Amino acid sequence: MKTMRAVQIEKVLKPMKVRDIPIPEIGDNDALIRLTASGICRTDWHLWNGDWTWIDVKLDLPLVLGHEICGVVDEIGSAVQGLPVGTRVCVPFNMACGHCPYCLRGLQNVCDNYEWPMLTRGSGGFAQYVRVPNARLNCVPLPKEVSDIDASALGCRYMTAYRAVATRADVRAGETVVVTGIGGVGRSCVEIAAALGAQVIAIDTKVEVLEAAKKIGASEVLLSGGLTPKQIGERVKALTGGVGVDVGLDAVGGHDATLMTLHSLAKGGRMVQVGLTTQDDKGEIKVPIDLMVAKELSIIGSLGNPQANYPDLLRLISSGKVDPSRHLEAEVRLEDVQGVFDRMPKFGTNGFSIITNFN
Ligand SMILES: [Zn+2]
Ligand SMILES: [Zn+2]
Repeated sequence: MKTMRAVQIEKVLKPMKVRDIPIPEIGDNDALIRLTASGICRTDWHLWNGDWTWIDVKLDLPLVLGHEICGVVDEIGSAVQGLPVGTRVCVPFNMACGHCPYCLRGLQNVCDNYEWPMLTRGSGGFAQYVRVPNARLNCVPLPKEVSDIDASALGCRYMTAYRAVATRADVRAGETVVVTGIGGVGRSCVEIAAALGAQVIAIDTKVEVLEAAKKIGASEVLLSGGLTPKQIGERVKALTGGVGVDVGLDAVGGHDATLMTLHSLAKGGRMVQVGLTTQDDKGEIKVPIDLMVAKELSIIGSLGNPQANYPDLLRLISSGKVDPSRHLEAEVRLEDVQGVFDRMPKFGTNGFSIITNFN
């Protein structure tokens, strides 16, 4: 049996080790992808912590985490057409079925039969190879202008930010936008909103992260430590002529982040919720519902990005207007994944850590 190297989670919160495990077998509609770049995202860290049991997320251990996949088609099933061996591809984390009512409407991100790579045996990205089901839909071929490092951000963080900013918030040139939490998704939101012509205010608890946000397009920054959500809302109003912002993007999740984003909105403002909660809130947050009525505010959820919208996203990157690889913090090895996880609780990461050495 042929084997590959992979980082396996055997037990929640137990340090992960690199193991030799069988290369996944593929079915008629699948492809086997040899990874060339694989992002390490906070979502994997959440799963390693055992979060999200409150939305029925179950880990069928042992598993290989990782869901920001870029690689080369190594083998295809007998029924796969139009995806030659050797094609460079990225894989959206929302692997979809292609035939449910949502897929048929182009909303593959909310597919009824979705599979997440890190929860599907043989498909996790912290490995030399992954099996991609329904490969013609779930492998997105890459233009030559999009590098492997760029593409490893397109499996989750960058495409999530793109949908939140461009589609769900529908940010227009000249609008004001707050981005709360300048982690992987947050900094991508800052860059994309600025590229679309918005005035962006970045909010975070760390000075160095806010400095980085300025370099990618934030026109104002706000240090949130020690302030209540309402006080932060007041500061944002002060920065916007007493009005508040048109759009709020919560890229963190959790009570304080959600509320500070909501309190930052102008009348008629729209907030897009991207971040999910942790053990502290377990999926439920109290919101000032009367204020939402009085100010006609809306909260909009945003999940991933549909396969159908990748051409627009790839065009935006090919044009050079946005550049995912500028968020790169470190290129790492499979052995380094646990170390990156260990720095996440304190938000000690600043940019994307991408596995590029799988040997
Ligand atoms: Zn579907
Ligand atoms: Zn992710």
